[in-house]
Amino acid sequence: MKAIAVFPGEKKIKLIDHEPPRITKPTEVKVRILEVGICGTDRDICTFQYGTPPADSKYLVIGHESLGEVVEVGKEVSRVSMGDLVVLMVRRPCQHKNCFACRNDRQDFCFTGDFTERGIKEAHGFMAEFVVDDEKYLNRVPRELRDIAVLTEPLTIAEKAITQVWQVQQRLPWGPHPAGQKPGYCHKAVVLGAGPVGLLGMMVLLNAGFETYVYSRGLSSCPVASLVTSIGGKYISSDTSTPEDLSKQVGNIDLVYEATGAAQISFEVMEVLGINSVMVFTGIPGLKGPINVDADLIMRNLVLKNQIVFGTVNADQSAFKNAVTDLGFFNEKWPKAVRSLITGRYPPESYQEVLLGPKNGIKNIFSFQ
Ligand SMILES: [Zn+2]
Ligand SMILES: [Zn+2]
Repeated sequence: MKAIAVFPGEKKIKLIDHEPPRITKPTEVKVRILEVGICGTDRDICTFQYGTPPADSKYLVIGHESLGEVVEVGKEVSRVSMGDLVVLMVRRPCQHKNCFACRNDRQDFCFTGDFTERGIKEAHGFMAEFVVDDEKYLNRVPRELRDIAVLTEPLTIAEKAITQVWQVQQRLPWGPHPAGQKPGYCHKAVVLGAGPVGLLGMMVLLNAGFETYVYSRGLSSCPVASLVTSIGGKYISSDTSTPEDLSKQVGNIDLVYEATGAAQISFEVMEVLGINSVMVFTGIPGLKGPINVDADLIMRNLVLKNQIVFGTVNADQSAFKNAVTDLGFFNEKWPKAVRSLITGRYPPESYQEVLLGPKNGIKNIFSFQ
């Protein structure tokens, strides 16, 4: 079967003929892949910054943002049936007995670092015609989400983040809200960056009732800015407004959801974080050497303004479940906007231009069927 693979030893990317996987355990499921999303992680793997093949392989089949259809089930499978649409989880637990996280199905919080990740670290990914996995890593998706469900995995980043926001903000009185108001009611959120992770994060925050601003490069006349405003977000361009201008316009910034992977601008925004606020990092910057930040000011604010800053990676089963539920909401509320996040569908044969060519659009995907 067709698969897209990187060969780190040869520094090459190829469309290969890969042995189709077979069900070998009663709880396994065979999935015919329909679509696979492409993100910065895939592009980084294709420039050999990371990405590790399984121990017995010279290459790594890449891809971790999936949508597929169940075509075969093992004897003991009960969570999915033939014909179901499914999205696969990415991370698999480490084998250490004392890793409490992995032993409790929370490999997204693995303590040892010896987890594997499909399409990224020591396990083949989903840019292939078929994959097999244990049913426990599959999440069912309703049929009406067929054309947007490939956004589920990138959406899980925001879902895991917002779950943690509710947890850490229990430390303070963020309410009570008037009856019928959503949990983000009367709070202000700023999303840094207007890529797919940022825009999906904005949708989650709007849906949770936050007054939501997107702060990003690109003038307020750019297409992404109109996408933001079309669903009730507010757009502020970092080309024309400094972080100080941003804070003047917003008022007390209660939440920052970082989705740029750029340290300089993120730490500048940290300087204007509000009272009792929380800042969430999701981006992974390249290691480019030290930058200038006003650390005294940041440290003073962290203490005097009761601020919390945390990072989040990967996602657990509940984040996938919440992502599917929220995609359903987005589909009803903002059918056009959510579809406009997918800017290109390509056959796997276009792997060279799509993975190595100049970045364009918001979210591009490979269609395998
Ligand atoms: Zn991704
Ligand atoms: Zn672990």
